[in-house]
Amino acid sequence: MSKSIESVAVIGGGPAGLMAAEVLSAAGLSVVVYDRMPTLGRKLLMAGRGGLNLTHSEDFAAFVTRYGAAAERLTPLIEAFTPADLIAWAEALGQETFIGSSGRVFPRALKASPLLRAWLARLTAQGVEFRTRRDWRGWNEAGDLVFGTEGDAVETACPDATILALGGASWPRLGSNGAWAQVLAQRGIELAPFQPANSGFDVAWSEMFRTRFAGHPLKNIALSFGGRTVRGEAMIADYGIEGGAVYALSADLREAISRTGAVTLDVDLRPDLSRPKLADRLHKGGAGQSTTNLLRKTASLTPAEINLLREGHGIELPKDPGALARAVKSTPITLSAVRPIDRAISTAGGVKLSNLDEGLMLLAMPGVYAVGEMLDWEAPTGGYLLQGAFASGVAAARAVLSQR
Ligand SMILES: Cc1cc2nc3c(=O)[nH]c(=O)nc-3n(C[C@H](O)[C@H](O)[C@H](O)COP(=O)(O)OP(=O)(O)OC[C@H]3O[C@@H](n4cnc5c(N)ncnc54)[C@H](O)[C@@H]3O)c2cc1C
Repeated sequence: MSKSIESVAVIGGGPAGLMAAEVLSAAGLSVVVYDRMPTLGRKLLMAGRGGLNLTHSEDFAAFVTRYGAAAERLTPLIEAFTPADLIAWAEALGQETFIGSSGRVFPRALKASPLLRAWLARLTAQGVEFRTRRDWRGWNEAGDLVFGTEGDAVETACPDATILALGGASWPRLGSNGAWAQVLAQRGIELAPFQPANSGFDVAWSEMFRTRFAGHPLKNIALSFGGRTVRGEAMIADYGIEGGAVYALSADLREAISRTGAVTLDVDLRPDLSRPKLADRLHKGGAGQSTTNLLRKTASLTPAEINLLREGHGIELPKDPGALARAVKSTPITLSAVRPIDRAISTAGGVKLSNLDEGLMLLAMPGVYAVGEMLDWEAPTGGYLLQGAFASGVAAARAVLSQR
């Protein structure tokens, strides 16, 4: 780039954009963060309601595999801003972290508001200017950025570089509505269609099961689909099923549903007990008991789990201990559809990574970078989403700095 870069517009004040703003302003650049909402970081605050899973403590080699097809492109970004870097960053903002039993990393406060407050104060101290209620609409003929503001008013800006950090398309009321996709498509940027990621699925529960057990957790279970098994938790919802273990399989389930219309998820309600051991317990505890009591007493199944067995295997569960153990170890649930995108935790699709150079600059638009969830990558819950968003913000900011 011929012009020296002094000013940068960061459009989108979520984790990816704010991280880019931090790196750029720390290096002395003049940075303006624009956002269409009245306040910044709304999705980050929403993530905080679930405890704010910042990243994951597993081995780096395993960590990067969570990005699936995008792992190769994301690995160098995460090498340059690792989970350890993210933890150090949060702690420097006064947010001590801890590793939960599943290996996930959380701030001790288990919410995002103190982190976001300290972060925005740091950015302000570094000279970052925030312009909220600025809805980015694209570029005008002169090549200036165009923002809609209050009423019909329009504002333009002509920074030396632009970082787009516009998020995905889930939870649009938090700000990220995906409207940017049309603007970029018109500029010839290749996009993969938005799809719900880490989302729940519809299940045609019986009326009794739905009304009695919606909101009940299924803890320490294993879910299997398409040759993959995931241990964890799920949550029965009135519409179907959601929760961490479901999300971990959700990309495969979503693709299969789009091909075949409905799929069967296999639930092992007691993954720590082998089938023969469970059958033995059921056999020994069996005399004179109802099946419900037997399952409750010998296998500690909850009422929700026992009724889930009936949803999958029919009201009359097998009497034979071997067959009953088989049922507990393998209950089918038919998933008929993926939940709508507006309630998904994240979005798959967006700007295809092939549009970007190593520093996340759009090859077709020199000086314009794209970061965070607006890029076409997806990952399960577990902190991989925020780690990816933060790391991409750092990468683009460093790439801008390297152009100076
Ligand atoms: C309920 C929920 C829980 C979650 N929990 C976790 C978790 O525990 N761990 C985890 O890793 N991830 C979690 N996530 C996902 C995580 O929050 C997102 O992946 C992350 O916020 C993406 O960051 P981003 O900066 O790319 O986009 P966003 O956070 O979506 O920020 C994009 C910003 O761009 C702005 N914007 C969009 N369009 C325009 C426009 N045209 N003009 C101006 N501004 C615009 C938006 O207003 C928004 O502020 C959760 C998400 C949800 C919904």
